[in-house]
Amino acid sequence: MHHLRFQQTIQHTAQVSGRGYWSSKPITLTFLPAPSNTGILFRRIDLQGKPEIEAIAANRRETNLRTTLVSDAAHVEMIEHVMAALYGLDIDNCIVECDAAEMPGMDGSAVAFALALEQAGTSRQADVVEHLSISSSLRVGDDRNWVMAVPSADPGLTLQYQLDYGPDSSIPATTTTQLLERDNFSNTIAPARTFLTEHDARHLQMQGVASHVTYRDLVVFGPDGPIDNSLRFEDECSRHKLLDLIGDLALCGLRVQGKIIASRSGHILNGRLAEAIRNLENSHSHLRNRNAA
Ligand SMILES: [Zn+2]
Repeated sequence: MHHLRFQQTIQHTAQVSGRGYWSSKPITLTFLPAPSNTGILFRRIDLQGKPEIEAIAANRRETNLRTTLVSDAAHVEMIEHVMAALYGLDIDNCIVECDAAEMPGMDGSAVAFALALEQAGTSRQADVVEHLSISSSLRVGDDRNWVMAVPSADPGLTLQYQLDYGPDSSIPATTTTQLLERDNFSNTIAPARTFLTEHDARHLQMQGVASHVTYRDLVVFGPDGPIDNSLRFEDECSRHKLLDLIGDLALCGLRVQGKIIASRSGHILNGRLAEAIRNLENSHSHLRNRNAA
């Protein structure tokens, strides 16, 4: 049903530097080419022994406002925008060297990562990408917050994010639907920025986090809309949540064919869906390998 694609890595190294939103710490990411079947690996070059952390759902630690991966010796935080850029650009194998734990916040979007990776170019590898077609619905969450994977007759992966914080929220209710395509990822999805309400922004800064972040570094919503800023898309908030969803879904480690629909889901539910999809693949692979032989 699905067309086969060869695995890809980047052709040249690429670097992105910035500061973590939460920690305010400077960090440089160096994206390196990696062999077939490596997947995405984060490597903490600031730590002794340069420990590596595999970007798979089983390694995530459930946190609400960002996606964190842990291994025995190390962790990396706020990886969702980096992962979204790699997945959105069909880069299957890559080593992401980092010299701090928290990924750079940049402008709150994935555009800096996407542009750096695009400039690095892609290189086709010998092995075929592992695909998974969603054959029956998978759903996580409750009546209010949920995310589900459903079968689709269309090729590729279509995602939909429904954002609705209610009539009293300063953040408008919008829905974004996108077919994931590498050729327009950098223009349509990557530029959508992180957002916060003014209330949440004040609360976070009172806790001493994100002290260097200004109204220009992400979108802060006051009662009358974005403060000292304007939206890049009418649906920028749901579009950003779609970006987060892609980054979290990428932890399933497979290319997915089907449709993912999310309603008010966050990193925890997205990560659980990624894990469920990965488990589905594990339970099917025995049969599939036999068919392929
Ligand atoms: Zn995000």
